[in-house]
Amino acid sequence: MTIPSFTLNNGVTMPALGFGVYQTPPDETIAAVESALATGYRHIDTAAAYGNEREVGEAVRRSEVGRDDIFLETKIWISDFGYDETLHGFDKSAGKLGVEVIDLLILHQALPGEFDLTVQAYRALEKLYGEGKVRAIGVSNFMPDHLTRLLAETEIVPAVNQIEVHPYFRQSELLAVDTEHGILNQAWSPIGGITFYRDGSHGSTLEDPVIGAIATEHGKTPAQVMLRWHLQQNRQAIPKSVRPARIAENFDIFDFDLTPDRLTAIDALDTGIRGGPQPEDITRETFGVPIPEP
Ligand code: NDP
Repeated sequence: MTIPSFTLNNGVTMPALGFGVYQTPPDETIAAVESALATGYRHIDTAAAYGNEREVGEAVRRSEVGRDDIFLETKIWISDFGYDETLHGFDKSAGKLGVEVIDLLILHQALPGEFDLTVQAYRALEKLYGEGKVRAIGVSNFMPDHLTRLLAETEIVPAVNQIEVHPYFRQSELLAVDTEHGILNQAWSPIGGITFYRDGSHGSTLEDPVIGAIATEHGKTPAQVMLRWHLQQNRQAIPKSVRPARIAENFDIFDFDLTPDRLTAIDALDTGIRGGPQPEDITRETFGVPIPEP
């Protein structure tokens, strides 16, 4: 089945639904990615910091799907920020993935307290893009002021901003800022994964009664309704699972439509409470971890 795609601001297309592997242990990654590719996913989102790029690359090589038909995205961790360091970060990721060209390479976080280093890292991405080693470049967890600073000091507008978006944390202002700049919103924890680990105060989006009622109405599951909500609001989503049945379930979202009032009802569930770390709190002292050589 051919799934819809989004066209990035440089003309490159990417599938409208991808597959995430954060917290997928390396010894489960090959099977998970193989299952995703067999299901029909054609976009895998990994990161240097996830420790499973090598296994993602291995699954791609084992798959019957050709490399050219798979969109590979990975992220440079903050420990590798700086111009030369980030160029070397590309070599490490490409080496582990076993590819010459990465389809989308993004900065995993901004370093608000060391923004010059963030800019240097992004300039390295621009160089890699100019050399054809990456087909598109972008950022993750950038807030509006980070984008303003980046855009003022660099040449290429990021193709994507990968940010936490699910029904309980929507970041509507940031979504609008991205769109204004022609930056595609990419939703991480798209079915609220980050909230499942919280204390009881937040609850799980999977058990939300509003989402549940909409799911029942359409003969779909809560996860499918959330993924459809992203798609219809022009956000790319990258759900993660290690279970083949859920991997298939999360892909089966192309045969129904949510009406505008159902989309609005899901929008209204926003709590304004972030599941992930505050982007302003990211420092190399607290979050830095060395990224090993290939
Ligand atoms: P998701 O919203 O994708 O949820 C994943 C969780 O939900 C897992 O616990 C998974 O368990 C479970 N799950 C998956 N499908 C279903 C289903 N159909 N029904 C019930 N439970 C389900 O959260 P993630 O935090 O994993 O985010 C997705 C991806 O986003 C990551 O893998 C990563 O690629 C990216 N990400 C990026 C971040 C960034 O800073 N840029 C931060 C966090 C994530 P199981 O595997 O057991 O099925």
